[in-house]
Amino acid sequence: MSHKHSMIVLYLIVVGMVAGLGAGWFFGEDVLVIKWMGTLFLNALKMTIVPLILAAVISGVASLGDIRKLGRPGGLTMLYYLSTTVIAIIIGLVLVNLIQPGVGVEMSAEALQAGQAKAESNSGMTFSDILLSLISPNLVKSAVDLQLLPLVFFAVIFGAAVTTVGTAGGKVIDFFEGLNDAMMKIVGWIMYFAPIGVFALVATSLGEAGGGEAFLATIYGIGKYVATVLIALAVHSVVLFLIMMTMSGRGVGFVKDMARALLTAFGTASSSATLPLTMECAHEHGLSERSVRFVLPLGSTVNMNGTALYEAIAAMFIAQMYGIDLGIGAQILIVVTATLAAIGAAGIPQAGTVTMLIVLGAVGLPAEGIGILLSVDWFLDRFRTTVNVWGDSVGAAVMNKYMVSKEEVALEEALEPHEAT
Ligand code: ASP
Repeated sequence: MSHKHSMIVLYLIVVGMVAGLGAGWFFGEDVLVIKWMGTLFLNALKMTIVPLILAAVISGVASLGDIRKLGRPGGLTMLYYLSTTVIAIIIGLVLVNLIQPGVGVEMSAEALQAGQAKAESNSGMTFSDILLSLISPNLVKSAVDLQLLPLVFFAVIFGAAVTTVGTAGGKVIDFFEGLNDAMMKIVGWIMYFAPIGVFALVATSLGEAGGGEAFLATIYGIGKYVATVLIALAVHSVVLFLIMMTMSGRGVGFVKDMARALLTAFGTASSSATLPLTMECAHEHGLSERSVRFVLPLGSTVNMNGTALYEAIAAMFIAQMYGIDLGIGAQILIVVTATLAAIGAAGIPQAGTVTMLIVLGAVGLPAEGIGILLSVDWFLDRFRTTVNVWGDSVGAAVMNKYMVSKEEVALEEALEPHEAT
């Protein structure tokens, strides 16, 4: 989708949401005649998910280059990125549990029942259940049942393995990169229908919940949800700042130097599109070539703190809306899946919204909940993308210090294209 088109679609989605709220309020249950439109839109999104997730995660992991050559700096960088992603998710989970934005949003009795029945199977999740849900004895069956977690897990392993098998592996990587681009194109086309889809989903969920009476509760719930995400993003940004200060000795000067990249991230809602500028700012600030050329590009594919945090909050918001009590087991599963979903999300506008289906699927939450979230997604996307880029920048600053001479040599090799045997 060109920039101009995506701006038009964005305005239309907002119009769709407002019109949907109006229609649900005005027509109440009668609005259910258009329910199929929302279902059609959701089905179209779900249609893309299996090939998209496989292609995105495989090509994302494979972009690390030969996994055996990553060496200590590469390993440390990955460890750093995974840790900050988990910290982001935990901040999100703590705040969403405290603020409870989804509690009080009215839903119809049937929707509540259906949602709860779906979540029932997840209630008593133990640690071994979580591990067991990662590995499927039958990947095709998992794909048929849209159980995405084992697919993502397989894709991570496959993406790593394919970097170690030489030239033939390179062709496989090219294939998955092409598949990823094509699937994202299809998602872009589906997004043209988002205004109608959002209109129908918002109108029917409001209509089902009782129209006018549920109107204010819905608006209030959405407002609280937006506030929760924004507060959590702000808290995480400050935590990152503190990590940067303690681990790299940098301060406000670094924020100032990165400001152009951060503002561009906000403006484009795409961390990939921002990457050249992020690299330029980091370079001008004086970070080493190694940090700029390795840590930042790697971060732009695997490190999405804002996206991970947002996905965890969004999933919990949907659970709260449907009155589904997610215990500690299910919340640990959210930590695992939101991490994988953030790794799988491409650095383009609203990619995180699509990979969120992984999180919803893993804890058994109804995908219909996404309709309400989509209506404010264009707005939150900009903030979370800024935090994604901020997370990468801090990563580069922190790792800069650890990129010492001996390891730089190992890194030099990791920077070479996949041509190992
Ligand atoms: N737009 C985000 C990025 O480019 C990804 C997402 O969360 O949708 O970083």
